[in-house]
Amino acid sequence: MIRVEKSENKDKLKTLRSRLSEAQIAFNAYIRMRDKWKPCVSCGTPPTEYGRGGSRDASHYLARGSSKGGSSRRFDWANVHSSCKKCNRFLAGNLVPYRVELIKRIGLDRVEAIEITDKIKKWNRTDLKRIKVLANRKRRLYERKFR
Ligand SMILES: [Zn+2]
Repeated sequence: MIRVEKSENKDKLKTLRSRLSEAQIAFNAYIRMRDKWKPCVSCGTPPTEYGRGGSRDASHYLARGSSKGGSSRRFDWANVHSSCKKCNRFLAGNLVPYRVELIKRIGLDRVEAIEITDKIKKWNRTDLKRIKVLANRKRRLYERKFR
Protein backbone atom coordinates (compact mmCIF):
# COMPACT_ATOMS: atom_id res chain seq x y z
CA MET A 1 0.00 0.00 0.00
CA ILE A 2 2.69 2.45 1.04
CA ARG A 3 4.77 1.41 -1.94
CA VAL A 4 1.88 2.19 -4.30
CA GLU A 5 1.41 5.66 -2.77
CA LYS A 6 5.12 6.32 -3.03
CA SER A 7 5.25 5.37 -6.67
CA GLU A 8 2.17 7.50 -7.36
CA ASN A 9 3.87 10.47 -5.75
CA LYS A 10 7.02 9.80 -7.70
CA ASP A 11 5.00 9.69 -10.90
CA LYS A 12 3.34 13.02 -10.11
CA LEU A 13 6.71 14.60 -9.41
CA LYS A 14 8.17 13.23 -12.60
CA THR A 15 5.25 14.50 -14.61
CA LEU A 16 5.58 18.01 -13.24
CA ARG A 17 9.32 17.93 -13.79
CA SER A 18 8.98 16.73 -17.35
CA ARG A 19 6.37 19.41 -17.97
CA LEU A 20 8.76 21.98 -16.57
CA SER A 21 11.45 20.70 -18.87
CA GLU A 22 9.11 20.73 -21.88
CA ALA A 23 7.99 24.27 -21.11
CA GLN A 24 11.63 25.38 -20.74
CA ILE A 25 12.63 23.80 -24.04
CA ALA A 26 9.72 25.47 -25.85
CA PHE A 27 10.39 28.79 -24.12
CA ASN A 28 14.10 28.74 -24.97
CA ALA A 29 13.38 27.80 -28.59
CA TYR A 30 11.05 30.79 -28.82
CA ILE A 31 13.71 33.13 -27.37
CA ARG A 32 16.32 31.90 -29.87
CA MET A 33 13.85 32.44 -32.72
CA ARG A 34 12.74 35.86 -31.44
CA ASP A 35 16.36 36.99 -31.24
CA LYS A 36 17.49 35.21 -34.39
CA TRP A 37 18.90 38.33 -36.01
CA LYS A 38 20.03 40.06 -32.85
CA PRO A 39 23.65 40.09 -31.77
CA CYS A 40 24.75 38.27 -28.62
CA VAL A 41 23.18 40.17 -25.74
CA SER A 42 26.47 40.18 -23.84
CA CYS A 43 29.37 40.59 -26.29
CA GLY A 44 27.57 41.91 -29.37
CA THR A 45 28.85 39.21 -31.73
CA PRO A 46 26.56 39.37 -34.77
CA PRO A 47 24.42 36.27 -35.43
CA THR A 48 26.14 35.67 -38.76
CA GLU A 49 29.35 34.91 -36.89
CA TYR A 50 27.72 32.42 -34.55
CA GLY A 51 28.25 29.60 -36.99
CA ARG A 52 25.63 27.25 -38.28
CA GLY A 53 22.84 25.62 -36.29
CA GLY A 54 22.47 25.32 -32.54
CA SER A 55 25.23 27.74 -31.77
CA ARG A 56 23.28 30.14 -29.64
CA ASP A 57 21.72 29.89 -26.22
CA ALA A 58 18.74 31.39 -24.49
CA SER A 59 20.69 33.11 -21.75
CA HIS A 60 18.96 34.09 -18.51
CA TYR A 61 20.09 37.46 -17.21
CA LEU A 62 19.42 36.37 -13.64
CA ALA A 63 19.40 32.70 -12.84
CA ARG A 64 16.25 30.68 -13.10
CA GLY A 65 17.41 28.24 -10.44
CA SER A 66 16.89 28.04 -6.74
CA SER A 67 17.91 31.60 -5.86
CA LYS A 68 15.22 33.79 -4.38
CA GLY A 69 13.03 35.00 -7.22
CA GLY A 70 14.67 32.58 -9.64
CA SER A 71 11.51 30.58 -10.05
CA SER A 72 9.49 33.62 -11.11
CA ARG A 73 12.23 34.76 -13.52
CA ARG A 74 12.43 31.39 -15.25
CA PHE A 75 9.79 32.19 -17.86
CA ASP A 76 10.07 35.98 -17.89
CA TRP A 77 10.43 37.02 -21.55
CA ALA A 78 12.37 40.11 -20.50
CA ASN A 79 14.91 38.14 -18.44
CA VAL A 80 16.02 35.84 -21.25
CA HIS A 81 17.86 36.82 -24.41
CA SER A 82 19.85 35.07 -27.04
CA SER A 83 23.59 34.94 -26.54
CA CYS A 84 26.57 33.17 -27.99
CA LYS A 85 27.56 29.96 -26.26
CA LYS A 86 30.86 31.40 -25.18
CA CYS A 87 29.20 34.09 -23.09
CA ASN A 88 26.45 31.91 -21.71
CA ARG A 89 28.41 28.79 -20.91
CA PHE A 90 31.99 29.83 -20.34
CA LEU A 91 31.61 33.37 -19.03
CA ALA A 92 28.60 32.59 -16.80
CA GLY A 93 26.36 34.81 -18.92
CA ASN A 94 28.93 37.63 -19.16
CA LEU A 95 26.57 39.67 -17.00
CA VAL A 96 28.16 43.11 -16.83
CA PRO A 97 27.81 43.86 -20.57
CA TYR A 98 24.55 41.85 -20.56
CA ARG A 99 23.08 44.37 -18.12
CA VAL A 100 24.22 47.34 -20.21
CA GLU A 101 22.59 45.88 -23.34
CA LEU A 102 19.49 44.81 -21.43
CA ILE A 103 18.90 48.37 -20.24
CA LYS A 104 19.01 49.46 -23.92
CA ARG A 105 16.55 46.74 -24.93
CA ILE A 106 13.96 46.83 -22.15
CA GLY A 107 14.76 49.92 -20.05
CA LEU A 108 16.28 50.42 -16.62
CA ASP A 109 12.93 50.16 -14.79
CA ARG A 110 12.27 46.70 -16.16
CA VAL A 111 15.84 45.56 -15.46
CA GLU A 112 15.57 46.73 -11.87
CA ALA A 113 12.21 45.03 -11.52
CA ILE A 114 13.85 41.76 -12.56
CA GLU A 115 16.69 42.34 -10.11
CA ILE A 116 14.56 43.03 -7.04
CA THR A 117 11.93 40.36 -7.48
CA ASP A 118 12.02 37.77 -4.73
CA LYS A 119 8.69 36.17 -5.47
CA ILE A 120 8.69 32.43 -5.39
CA LYS A 121 6.57 31.04 -8.16
CA LYS A 122 5.33 27.50 -7.92
CA TRP A 123 4.58 26.47 -11.48
CA ASN A 124 1.68 24.06 -11.71
CA ARG A 125 0.71 21.78 -14.58
CA THR A 126 -1.72 24.30 -16.04
CA ASP A 127 0.88 27.10 -16.01
CA LEU A 128 3.50 24.91 -17.65
CA LYS A 129 1.15 23.68 -20.32
CA ARG A 130 0.07 27.26 -21.07
CA ILE A 131 3.71 28.43 -21.30
CA LYS A 132 4.59 25.62 -23.68
CA VAL A 133 1.60 26.30 -25.95
CA LEU A 134 2.19 30.05 -25.92
CA ALA A 135 5.93 29.73 -26.56
CA ASN A 136 5.36 27.33 -29.47
CA ARG A 137 2.75 29.63 -30.95
CA LYS A 138 5.03 32.67 -30.69
CA ARG A 139 7.99 30.73 -32.08
CA ARG A 140 5.95 29.70 -35.13
CA LEU A 141 4.89 33.31 -35.68
CA TYR A 142 8.54 34.37 -35.77
CA GLU A 143 9.46 31.44 -38.00
CA ARG A 144 6.92 32.63 -40.56
CA LYS A 145 8.15 36.20 -40.19
CA PHE A 146 11.76 35.20 -40.87
CA ARG A 147 11.07 32.73 -43.65
ZN1 LIG B 1 28.66 36.61 -26.55
